[in-house]
Amino acid sequence: MDSQESASRKVVPIVPANEGVAREDGVQMVSLYAATPKIYPRSVQGVFAQWRWLMVALTQLVFYGLPWLEWGQRQAVLFDLGARRFYIFGVVLYPQDFIYLTAILVISAFSLFLFTAIAGRLWCGYACPQTVYSEIFLWVERQIEGDRSARIRLDAADMSLEKLVKKWYKHIVWLGIAIWTGFTFVGYFTPIRVLGMEFFQGHMSSWEVFWVFFYAFATYGNAGFMREQVCKYMCPYARFQSAMFDKDTLIVSYDAARGEPRGARAKQTDPAALGLGACVDCRLCVQVCPTGIDIRQGLQYECIGCGACADVCDTVMDKLGYARGLVKYSTENALAQGWNRQQTWRRVLRPRVLLYMGLLGLVSVALFTSLALRQPFKVDVVRDRASLARIVAGGQIENVYRIQIMNASEKPLHFKLSAEGLPGLTLASPHDVVVEATQSRWVPVRLQLPYDAAPSGSHPIHFKMASYEEGVKMVGELSEKSVFLVPR
Ligand code: SF4
Ligand code: SF4
Repeated sequence: MDSQESASRKVVPIVPANEGVAREDGVQMVSLYAATPKIYPRSVQGVFAQWRWLMVALTQLVFYGLPWLEWGQRQAVLFDLGARRFYIFGVVLYPQDFIYLTAILVISAFSLFLFTAIAGRLWCGYACPQTVYSEIFLWVERQIEGDRSARIRLDAADMSLEKLVKKWYKHIVWLGIAIWTGFTFVGYFTPIRVLGMEFFQGHMSSWEVFWVFFYAFATYGNAGFMREQVCKYMCPYARFQSAMFDKDTLIVSYDAARGEPRGARAKQTDPAALGLGACVDCRLCVQVCPTGIDIRQGLQYECIGCGACADVCDTVMDKLGYARGLVKYSTENALAQGWNRQQTWRRVLRPRVLLYMGLLGLVSVALFTSLALRQPFKVDVVRDRASLARIVAGGQIENVYRIQIMNASEKPLHFKLSAEGLPGLTLASPHDVVVEATQSRWVPVRLQLPYDAAPSGSHPIHFKMASYEEGVKMVGELSEKSVFLVPR
């Protein structure tokens, strides 16, 4: 930018959006920031609300309960980052098992594609932690401050002893849930019983304290204050979901052909005589919406597909004696063609959905087969870089290696080492090694070859490792490639 250009640029003060001002040159200046009004979702009952609470119960039972389960002498699910080992029930994973983590991520991605192609943002509406914790925090808020109108009145009222007590009470319960959530989260990485003792004795490490309170703070902030803002502005999934939707994806939809023209009417009146549709414009669907949108304006990216508006609209239809389903899970094609439920569901199993199902099935079968056939130990061979090859007593050429043996089973294993690939190649270090359950061990290994047994250069060889349980029953065998160097 040259100096003339910069000199001609005028600095314009930013003012709030609702106070936009016209400058002398006629340009209207507005702020890009506008505070969003607080949303007070009304409580709702219905079939989708029941599904959501079932998912809250299931996901939280798993999340809070899993770290307390024992498997033998250890925690059933533990991600021990310090020891670089993951324990998942009977499976012990090492960093070398990264492929399994990749497979789990691929399965998660295909599951998300599949469920989104079938029924839109099912994950967001029923199982996403943001939805689940917002639902729990909102339930606490309702128990203490009351439903929507009571909460609006309380927030608008001047500070009083009652308001102070209610607000403090709510925040204390929220903080309790948040800290318990943070504690449970860290309990997946540090044995939770030990963590509990450290917590009460004040002996937690600084990292444990940091992560418990960081996760607690995130839960408290996201579920207590930010709620729909996280879905609208922070979550990337809302942005790319439209790429996974098509005209046969089930989405929460308002049947405009049936509902319009909307308008209030007395209960006994015939809407057709008044020239009205089924929507009585009660706005309950807006009041129950956790993101504060009006589903009657069509599909919007803010919609998390929770079905609360469908539930409340069904109760309105029931009271009026109209057919349910003015707001319902439907597809764009079904609404346009007027399909019934069977016709709609027939289109749900379209080629794209079948492809996702097939890929999901394939990756899942591959993962479980690979886990079932997995050797109970792993081996890494590293050449000793300090001495490539040397001549030792007896005129033998010696190469030195370090072998890492990882026992991924729950029992101590005995290993018998051998090497092959060159005539006369012998193991000059102990053949038998014991590695304790779920432990790994580095073993120095020396290989020797008669001086004139092979020409100079690098020769491929194989280490063989057979593992035995208590020295009796063979549980597996592995072969690992390496090279033997013969100097000139
Ligand atoms: S709840 Fe149903 S009837 Fe009431 S405004 Fe919404 S769509 Fe119309
Ligand atoms: S529009 Fe309906 S389905 Fe979408 S977020 Fe709001 S209440 Fe849930």
